[in-house]
Amino acid sequence: MKILVMGPPGAGKGSQSAKIVERYKIPSISTGHMFREAYNNNDPVGIEAMKFIKNGNLVSDEITNEIVRHRLKEEDAERSFLLDGYPRTVRQAVALDEMLVKMGTGLSAVINILSSNDVLFERMEARRVCKKCGATYHLVFKKPHVNGVCDKCGGELYQREDDTLESVKRRLEIYESKTKPLLDYYDKKGILYHINGMQPFDKVYADIELVLRDL
Ligand SMILES: [Zn+2]
Repeated sequence: MKILVMGPPGAGKGSQSAKIVERYKIPSISTGHMFREAYNNNDPVGIEAMKFIKNGNLVSDEITNEIVRHRLKEEDAERSFLLDGYPRTVRQAVALDEMLVKMGTGLSAVINILSSNDVLFERMEARRVCKKCGATYHLVFKKPHVNGVCDKCGGELYQREDDTLESVKRRLEIYESKTKPLLDYYDKKGILYHINGMQPFDKVYADIELVLRDL
């Protein structure tokens, strides 16, 4: 099972991906998480990447492709993986296809979580992320058991700098212009599945499972 989960920022991609990963015991490859981890470790790649991310911009294709290429070579990614937040441009998608072809494999499905801009703004404002493990929460839809504390690891929850209104607007614009062409790219390959993201969390997940079950 080699899948990619797509959707505009705030559509619940992160939470749904986390559930899939837990349920199917497959590694999650999140460029956002890898960049933040690199940043926290004072890795030059992470520091460079965070300059883009903090302004709501996309990290360059070169840096992003490189961090994914390294990750895909690790043993646990051989049979299954879930890609979260990558590829974001057609150029990255082409690069990913080349990497996978070289490994004698390819993507099994692309899950696209759909949502409206109004719903997205509302959700992003209330989003909180764990400093330690990257788990995501929502102050209304997916509350932590203890306020401000991660259920999984006890880490501190914070609002990401790129979840501010200006940054969210910018990310949605970038999503419209750069990421949507990706949907056409995968649609032509016949591996694109649309999921209605404006439903309760569990219902969205159930719809995703229907797709994964048939892979
Ligand atoms: Zn945590």
